[in-house]
Amino acid sequence: MKINAQRLLENLDRYAQIGKKGRIGVERIALSKEDKQARDLLKSQMIDAGLSVHIDRLGNMIGIRKGKTDSNPIAFGSHLDTVYSGGRYDGALGVLAGLELIQTLNDTNTITDKPLALVNFTNEEGVRFAPDMMGSHVYAGMADLEEILNAPAYDNPNESVGSCLHAIGYNGDMEPGAISFDAFFELHIEQGPVLELEQINIGVVEQVQGIYWTRYTIKGEANHAGTTPVYYRKDAGYAAAKIQKYVGDYTRKRNGSVLTTVGSVKFSPDAINIVPELAEFTLDVRSTDESFLKKAQKKIDDYVVKVVEKDELSFEREEMVRFGPVRFPFTMTDTVQTATKSLGLSYKRMPSGAGHDAQMMAHFCPSTMIFIPSVKGISHNVEEYSHDHDVENGANVLLAAVLGRSVAR
Ligand SMILES: [Zn+2]
Repeated sequence: MKINAQRLLENLDRYAQIGKKGRIGVERIALSKEDKQARDLLKSQMIDAGLSVHIDRLGNMIGIRKGKTDSNPIAFGSHLDTVYSGGRYDGALGVLAGLELIQTLNDTNTITDKPLALVNFTNEEGVRFAPDMMGSHVYAGMADLEEILNAPAYDNPNESVGSCLHAIGYNGDMEPGAISFDAFFELHIEQGPVLELEQINIGVVEQVQGIYWTRYTIKGEANHAGTTPVYYRKDAGYAAAKIQKYVGDYTRKRNGSVLTTVGSVKFSPDAINIVPELAEFTLDVRSTDESFLKKAQKKIDDYVVKVVEKDELSFEREEMVRFGPVRFPFTMTDTVQTATKSLGLSYKRMPSGAGHDAQMMAHFCPSTMIFIPSVKGISHNVEEYSHDHDVENGANVLLAAVLGRSVAR
């Protein structure tokens, strides 16, 4: 059984018109009016495909298709929200390939043993509201719903997740996590260059890197750049630069086995002729090995203390995100690998460098991901592109994997 590629590609194009940005890009921020429009379309398509639609209190949408038994459904899906100036595949591919899978089963009057669940998670990207992977985070029981509903928008403290959900009418009744899943599959673009460079059809995702995010604020003293002698300076900017160098060297010395990045630096007062009083910077640490993550974090923290003490400054440190690495179970990755082989496609077992809903769902049920190549590895960009044949391959692997799971157990 194969999916209808033309229908899937047309549907992807249809969603890409909602919040269209640039030539082929999309900007559909979670809980915006564009998000509502996309959700409304998905809801109507789910109903047309015969699914019963459930919406939870965080706006996660779940469409259930009955099976021959009433065991827990096999779930699949992703997210319909995007970043600012995002692409048409990130998230939407996983949701719409899931819908296509169901339409294909409908076309052939196929009833699976287990029920199926198509999922659209709320706010995967975390553009206006933290944390990212919000919907799956709460669905998997990893975060407190009430706290999340009160989370304010970055750009408007008067708006919260709860108020925006209400405004678009997606504050459902169901408790997140109320429907248990037999398994969760997420088809996604790779968002990196590996599959294209190695000319491989499918990535069988074995693990997702852990991510630690920390924000540091170093405090010194603002002073005149011309009259303040060096021995009298409390230069927060100079301290931040030394730490940034240390962080950059850290990953290079380890050949990137742990990735350490300072992605944002802000000085205050931020003027050409003033020694900076404040230096605020962020640290992003990633690895598939938790011991590497912890070690890197500790080494960098120790270095920050050393620099701050030597330069007679002070600092504050805020832990923003602590997600450990996730390893998907072999039963799941093997199901995807078998499905890929059965279609005669090439594959590579690989980690995911980015965070995804499946990483949260892994705490809820056996989960895994399927990657397709991203042209030049470009993503979170309006030029994000994946070839039609790769989209088709990915959707066929998803279908075969879901059928494999349904029959195998
Ligand atoms: Zn995504």
